[in-house]
Amino acid sequence: MTVRVYDTLQRAKVDLELREPGRVSIYVCGPTVYDVPHVGHGRTELVYDVIRRYLRWRGLDVTFVSNVTDIEDKLIARAHETGTTETELAERFEADWWDQIDRLGVERPDHTPHATAYVADMLVLVAELIDRGHAYVVEGRGVYFDVASFPGYGALPHRDLEQLLASAGGRVEIDEAKRSPVDFALWKAAKPGEPTWDSPWGPGRPGWHLECSTMALDLLGDGFDLHGAGDDLVFPHNENERAQAEAAGRAFARHWLHSGMVEIRGEKMSKSRHNFRTLADALDAHGPRGFRMAVLQTHYRKATELGDAELATAASAVARLDALARRLPTDARPSTALDETTVDRFRAEMDDDFGTPGAVATIFDAVSAAHQALAAGDEERAQSLGATVVELAGALGLSVETGDGADDALDERVAERDAARAAGDFSTADRIRDELADEGIVLEDTPNGTVWHRS
Ligand SMILES: [Zn+2]
Repeated sequence: MTVRVYDTLQRAKVDLELREPGRVSIYVCGPTVYDVPHVGHGRTELVYDVIRRYLRWRGLDVTFVSNVTDIEDKLIARAHETGTTETELAERFEADWWDQIDRLGVERPDHTPHATAYVADMLVLVAELIDRGHAYVVEGRGVYFDVASFPGYGALPHRDLEQLLASAGGRVEIDEAKRSPVDFALWKAAKPGEPTWDSPWGPGRPGWHLECSTMALDLLGDGFDLHGAGDDLVFPHNENERAQAEAAGRAFARHWLHSGMVEIRGEKMSKSRHNFRTLADALDAHGPRGFRMAVLQTHYRKATELGDAELATAASAVARLDALARRLPTDARPSTALDETTVDRFRAEMDDDFGTPGAVATIFDAVSAAHQALAAGDEERAQSLGATVVELAGALGLSVETGDGADDALDERVAERDAARAAGDFSTADRIRDELADEGIVLEDTPNGTVWHRS
């Protein structure tokens, strides 16, 4: 098989070269659980959910690890602000995280390591880095990674040390105890009121970057296949993960994937302007399938907008899938042969760096072809195309819903309206449309006939 991926480190689209044939191991940086998930989290989670599902559909045995950061600067600050403990805050927001992620239809990882459960392993890595001359202790402050000691630091963001130093102000922690501004903390000495663990360098807590190196190597082993994250994490977080692991003599990720951010129109997000800040709000308004479709319609590496307009458009696209499924009897579908031409096109799009926009376009071409086959009386071809639509949408994690008996009644009224329009009886057609609107059903006239969805 040849799946090609854009590898951030190689800065090129390359063949996905697996450590072990038939098996793929994936690590994705997970959330810091100090607030509710926003639409950007939803997108990142869905991007890697689709990649995971597709590789499995492609016949690979996938192991997927994503961490939960339950101790970190932002979490400590939030706990202090709200007068709660770090543990209580993390538990509350982690529960909320899984509620929304489950609702989104993202599969849970095979392993979900928590930072606080990995402190002992992290200390082993810190000791190794000190032994090898890649880290130094500053009394009373902690342990820092010595960036100058690691040749090739900056390879992931494609910037040399000079460039990183020039931009160090914004994205790295300023601390005069460090030898260089781009050096970063492996171990932070205890401050009053913060949770601490004992270490050979005094009580303290791990730096954030350390957990991902430790957990990925522990759960997936040296030279695991794919490391994924949002592209805001390339530097410093992902580069520091890589430096820590490789400076300790371990082979880290074979390939690096980065997904684009969610951009929001205007200066501020607010519900009143129909832009969604929280994932829960977006899902309340347009449902998980609409959200997934909206994510699929943009290539994962590009920035995207996921506002009211984009999600509404995507939800009506999902309704077109459902509308086809309702036109085709479901009982015949499981045994129906798939349309190989469509499957091949879909696979070609997805094998080329997970080209979901092209894959989705392929599915909708099959939807149109199925309606045309039905119009031409070619039931067998329609069935084959319908089965293909369900199969390929499923490969992307998108279910196609045929609805229940109540929907059949609705279909009849839509058909009645179509017949009235065709006969030029527009008053009847408009009356049916208005009645359905009162019931919260929105009709949409498409080149392939009328489809409906709930408003
Ligand atoms: Zn990470």
